[in-house]
Amino acid sequence: MSLHTNIATVTAGATPREVVVHGVTNDTATIVAWVGATNQWCHEKLVTITTPTITSVQWIQTNGIAVSSNNPNAGGGLMFFPDSPAPSAAPSNQVRIRAVITPPVNWPNAIHFRVFDVDDPSSSDPVLDNESAASDNKGTHTPPPTAPVSTDTNGIAEVTMTLSMQPGDNFRAVAATSAAFFNDVGPRHPDPAMAVTNNAGLIPANQITSPLTIWRNLHVELDSMAAVVSNDVRGSITNISGTASAATNLTLNVNLRTGLNPPDTSPNLSSTTNRGRFENGWIRIGTNGVQTTNLFGNGDNFVRNSGGFNIPADIVSGSTTTTVGQVVALSGSTFTVTAVLGASYTGATLRVAGTAFAITGNTASNVTVSAAGPQIPFTLHDDDNDTILPRNPDVSDLARAFQPAYVLVTFGLTNPTPIAPFVLNFLNDAVATLRPAFRFDNAATEASTTFWTVYVIAAYQMETFEDNDPVAVPALEGATLGIVDTMNGQGALIFLECLREFPPTPTVSEAFTVSHEVGHLFNGAHSDGGLMAQSLSRTNVNFTPTTLNRIRAIPHP
Ligand SMILES: [Zn+2]
Repeated sequence: MSLHTNIATVTAGATPREVVVHGVTNDTATIVAWVGATNQWCHEKLVTITTPTITSVQWIQTNGIAVSSNNPNAGGGLMFFPDSPAPSAAPSNQVRIRAVITPPVNWPNAIHFRVFDVDDPSSSDPVLDNESAASDNKGTHTPPPTAPVSTDTNGIAEVTMTLSMQPGDNFRAVAATSAAFFNDVGPRHPDPAMAVTNNAGLIPANQITSPLTIWRNLHVELDSMAAVVSNDVRGSITNISGTASAATNLTLNVNLRTGLNPPDTSPNLSSTTNRGRFENGWIRIGTNGVQTTNLFGNGDNFVRNSGGFNIPADIVSGSTTTTVGQVVALSGSTFTVTAVLGASYTGATLRVAGTAFAITGNTASNVTVSAAGPQIPFTLHDDDNDTILPRNPDVSDLARAFQPAYVLVTFGLTNPTPIAPFVLNFLNDAVATLRPAFRFDNAATEASTTFWTVYVIAAYQMETFEDNDPVAVPALEGATLGIVDTMNGQGALIFLECLREFPPTPTVSEAFTVSHEVGHLFNGAHSDGGLMAQSLSRTNVNFTPTTLNRIRAIPHP
């Protein structure tokens, strides 16, 4: 360097005055300077050269405020949400990197920035983090420009970069005052501390940011089906048979499979040993609605109860009412009762659970009525609980289940239609069957890559052969606790009536079902195991690395 090159600028002002020397090689320059002082007796003074050094490198939000939320997952550091802050807003996936030098001077083209994909500290499972690979982030980012950046008069240099959108991706930025500094710099794999190193070891703390880890919001809309309606079968009893002391079989004028809407495909006593939909249900008989509970079961056109049906009868003759015990049979126009009738009741009225018939004759135990085919009205109901809707599904496990995937579950969406029409049973599991049950107010963003949105509805039961009515017998009758419209679809149905019949276990419950189904919306598969295993084979409630990898790599649920 020439002794006389004009390379210095002098900032006028109070002493000590600053002389900033540009254009010399960092660290190795020898600069001899003379200062012309106003003191005429001393024209030469020693000048101390201070090389500006980087004192900090920080992540800064685009609003100028430092990123400060702590990543609660493995490795610590900072968390950053690149999502769109509102459904129609642009993603907030830009972040600034700020380096500060001391002394704080304007230094043209002083600072070089590089960003590194540091190790994933949450796992060394090759499914989730192949430690032999140079990088392990699952999304793509746009690094800051490599050209050096000038500091301002406060000694601050900033660049902007675009982060990836995949949860669990992580970054550290390094700043240096020469491009050559980066010749041997890279992230260390595996490294739970997310270190960046060079040949000398760790990058000094003043030149590197904290780790920054991507998190995503998962916006969940919660709905419920409306209150249960029309969950019974009504018709007439046309024949009664049983023992001498109890009616155990009632023939109905309704086909309990094909006569229902939707048809009931549950296996029943007509062709199997399965007890049919009405196992453990109840029946109300006659105009008085006399109830018998805990039914044994049903066939196509009959209900059976080995313990007997409660069918009280009495005879009204003039102003006298005589109790005649229980009806134990009806065949043709003749009822059989348990009482011994000691008189003729021709012309009187037989009341069967309140339903009246004109008596045309009787014996000691049989009463014949005038109706050619006497019919006794009934209402038949299975063992469902009709009071459990509407209410929102239990989402209390979602936060726990999804935290290891760097997904924060939130429920702040607007939801003008929180109640959907009641559906007793679905015909099948096709998208076209299930999705019409949704009232998904936020469907517009269901496929957004920047505003993750899913739907969960409290429903009642799946198909009639999947509703645990009768009590599930594998291969014939099943129990669907929850379902999605389709893999990576829009939403999940949680079947409260089916779940009600299974007391919670350490691995199966309504809350775990919700997490499992939302896992399907991220393409989680039963073969993944863990929480995605089906309830009968589930042994733990955590997403496996396979499922976590799906969640962290998918563009949107
Ligand atoms: Zn499943």
